[in-house]
Order: sequence, then C-alpha cells, then structure tokens
Amino acid sequence: MASLFGNGGYSFSSGSEGEDEDEGTEGYRKGGYHAARPGDRFAGGRFVAQRKLGWGNFSTVWLAYDTLESRFVALKIQKSARDYAHAARHEIELLSAATKADPTNSKCVVRLLDHFKHAGPNGQHVCLVTEFLGDSLLRLIRYNRCKGIGLSRVKEICRSVLVGLDYLHNELGIIHTDLKPENVLLVSTINPAKDPVRSGFTPILDRPVGNQYGGAVISFSEKMLKMRARRAVAKISQRRVSLGGVAAEVDEERNLDGISLKCKIVDFGNACWADQQLAGEIQTRQYRAPEVIIGSRYSYSADMWSFACMAFELATGELLFAPKCCQGCSEDEDHLAQMMETLGKMPRKMATSGTRSKDYFDRYGDLKRIKRLKFWPLDRILVERFDFTEPDAKGFTDFLQPILDFTPENRPSAMQCLKHPWLN
Ligand code: ATP
Ligand code: MG
Repeated sequence: MASLFGNGGYSFSSGSEGEDEDEGTEGYRKGGYHAARPGDRFAGGRFVAQRKLGWGNFSTVWLAYDTLESRFVALKIQKSARDYAHAARHEIELLSAATKADPTNSKCVVRLLDHFKHAGPNGQHVCLVTEFLGDSLLRLIRYNRCKGIGLSRVKEICRSVLVGLDYLHNELGIIHTDLKPENVLLVSTINPAKDPVRSGFTPILDRPVGNQYGGAVISFSEKMLKMRARRAVAKISQRRVSLGGVAAEVDEERNLDGISLKCKIVDFGNACWADQQLAGEIQTRQYRAPEVIIGSRYSYSADMWSFACMAFELATGELLFAPKCCQGCSEDEDHLAQMMETLGKMPRKMATSGTRSKDYFDRYGDLKRIKRLKFWPLDRILVERFDFTEPDAKGFTDFLQPILDFTPENRPSAMQCLKHPWLN
C-alpha cells in the first residue's frame, strides 16, 4: 500500500500474504495497531472479534460476528496515528461510493457495510466493516504450488476483475492504483473449514476467561493453530514426494475444481478519483506501469497494466516482471529493460515523455546504462518456459499483448477486454 505517505512506492505491501508471517510486535504502540482479542466487542457491542484474518502495513483485519444482523463480517482496524486515520477515511469515502452505486452487488468490488471509531490503549482507530471474503489470489497461486491455475480458471478470474475495473473506471471515476493478487479476494475460501458459515463455526460472543488484555500480540491458541498448520503443510509436502509429481498434481487440480472463482477487488487505501491524483508514484513494484516509472501522466490504463501482469502470474505462477538492482543500474532501469526484452522497444515519444526520462533514456529512446537486451517475446516465453501449447500461447498473447502497450492511450479499456474473443 502506500504512496500517500511518500515512502517511494516500493513494494511495502508485505502484508499478511507476504514474506513476513505476522505483523510483529513493533506496530503495537501509540499510533499503531490495536491489540484485539477474540471476544472483544466493537461499536457499542455490535461486532465481536473472532480471529485475525490478515494484516497490512496500515491495519489488522479480523473476522467478526455482527450480532445485529447475525452474520460474519471483516473488521479492518486501522492504526491510530493521524495519517493512517486520514487514509482510512479516504478508503471509506471511495468504498461508500462503490457500494452505494452497486445495489445489486454484481460489480466485483468489496462492499462496505459500516464504519466507526474505536478507542483503545494505542489511540483512536478508524474501523471499516466490510463483507467477509475468502482467500486472496496470491494464496490461490501458492496453493497450486506456483504452477499456474489453468487457462479456463484464469479466464473466469479475469472476467470478475475486469467487471470490477470497468465499474471503477467507467461508472465511478476511480483508479485503484494497487491492483495485484493480494488485493483480489475470492468470494469463497479454498479450504471450506476456514469458512465460518460453511463450516458451521459457532461465533465467540465473550472474551475467554483469564485472557489478559494488552499483553502478547498473538494468543496461545493462535500459536497452537499456526504450529498445527505448519505440521499439516509439512505432511502434505511429504505426501507429494511419495505420490510423485503427476499424482499430486491431479490431487491439487481436483481440489481447485470444487471452488467458485468469483472474486472481488479490495484494499482501496491508495485508490483515487482520477481527477484528484495525490501520489506521483503508485502501484507495487512488479505491477507498476511504465508511465509511472518514468514520471509521465497516468490514468485508468495504469490499472490495466497491473491487470495484465496479474493475469500472466495466474496463468504461469510466476511474476511477469521481477526487477532488481543490478551492477550500476537501478531497479527502475532493470524494470524498463525487462519490459523491453518482452515487449519490444518503447516508442521514443513515450520513453522521453516523463519527468524522469532523462535519468534512464538517451535522446534516441535507448536505455543509457543497459545496452544489450535479449528479446524474448511473450508467446515464446509461454511456450519455451511454461510449456504452453502453441494455440494456448497465441490465444493468451493476443489477449495480453495489447494491454501491455507502452503507450497508455493505446491500451484497451476493461470493457473492451471483456469483449475480447479469448474471454468468450
Ligand atoms: P496493505 O498494507 O496491503 O495496503 P492494509 O492494511 O490496507 O494492507 P488490506 O490490504 O485491506 O489492509 O487487508 C489486509 C489483509 O486482510 C488482506 O491481504 C486479506 O488477507 C485480509 N482481508 C482484507 N479484507 C478482507 C475481507 N473483506 N475478507 C477477508 N479477508 C480480508
Ligand atoms: Mg493489501
């Protein structure tokens, strides 16, 4: 998340799905996270915390029980410092607009149900109540052991995300600015046992006796659950080894078959009205559009670029672009070089149009510090590296390549993508 805070827009979003297993203890201080416990009540007692669902740099997110409506919801408890509160109010503004304009709940954007302030030992926390959703696409990708989830599933997910983007862009005038697998959640969960409704989970309505408030961040029971989960994962991988690759794959495929792949876009902490852009540098590194890197004007089409990167990742299990600092060149330059190796040379007009163009490009539109590019086009990558059949690679490339146009104005809109033959 983040450029609101001017931290340079790098891949801050480790979040609940990133490398770090949990949010650590550091953030639990004045101005930081609120230390919630199962059984804690919010909004005058209406919402009861059940278990932590995830976390980000700005908040922890809890499964909560809504005693008024008798349903499970997601409760996002923002850190309390002023800037975080400001960001949460901004998110509320955008999500309220998105929820209000979609009375039939068909637009693939998470619904805001309520919001309020909660006073705790670390300060006043703005809280957002949204509908409870399932696993993120990142979890889905990892669940399938980063092998790609199959093109028919990719198509199904792409349709949902495009419906969401078309709604944000065309009907609301919102740019999401941080589209990536972590920020798209399935409506259902991969593991039905984790779904409180399907698993018949009885809501916790009181804090367990003897559970001291404000002490350790992770409760004992949470630790036990984590240890059990780790052991279960170890067992599964052992089984995979003994079954051998093919059998294990069939097993995984069958598991994915049962689940609905309808999904929704979440995390509007960085989203903006297209006519009120706040941050110059947007998006998480790997999903960042070329115009953002060079400091040129961006709009809705920057989300489309991220969408294409995400579709590639769903289909292959690997990032389309994974830039890093290399000897004598920055992450930005490596990123631009990787783009040009896959997509061809950036048009000179585009390359020289940004406020940072001169740092990276000479006046002919060639990179200053990276001279020898090895061209490896998208369809060849799909065939040679990911074993796609020629027709599959061609179909997918026909869909993706136009969205990955260096010139933002040339990229198709979400609506145009929805009409593409590959999806129909
Ligand atoms: P970031 O640092 O990524 O911007 P954030 O603090 O703004 O994070 P979110 O990204 O909105 O928080 O949420 C953090 C995590 O909580 C998500 O990655 C997801 O795992 C979980 N989560 C968020 N909303 C929901 C929901 N409606 N249902 C289920 N889980 C959710
Ligand atoms: Mg997030």
